[in-house]
Amino acid sequence: MAVVLTRGCLCGAVRYEYAGEVGPASYCHCADCRRATGSAFNVGVKVSARQFRITQGDLKGFTKTGDSGNELTRHFCPECGSPLFTSSPRHPDFYFLKAGCLDDPGVVRTTHQSWVASRVDWAVISPDLPAFIRSSSAIAETG
Ligand SMILES: [Zn+2]
Ligand SMILES: [Zn+2]
Repeated sequence: MAVVLTRGCLCGAVRYEYAGEVGPASYCHCADCRRATGSAFNVGVKVSARQFRITQGDLKGFTKTGDSGNELTRHFCPECGSPLFTSSPRHPDFYFLKAGCLDDPGVVRTTHQSWVASRVDWAVISPDLPAFIRSSSAIAETG
């Protein structure tokens, strides 16, 4: 079922809108995600790039090659620094939204966790979720 998701950064300068299927979401425990989020892990939600648009404000992006070998660009608000989404030339049809600050994060359904070899002891996710030592798929690589 297609839904409309909106999100704004912490300061309100950037807003986006997504009208499409909400894809699976994964926890990523990699060190880059820890640094980029300032938290124990990232939760990335897979969405279609074509149905996503910035409705207000300008973004900045920081590009780095992850441990997966994929080049990832993490997009954020240049005013307040809120992380918004990640893109990768390896997966041009998808973006990976940061789940935590969706206006309605309750729509997110996490399906697995990746890079658990890098997990910190104080970041325990439900053992019921499939866990991968490294990345498992497109979504797992996209902090
Ligand atoms: Zn902002
Ligand atoms: Zn990651």
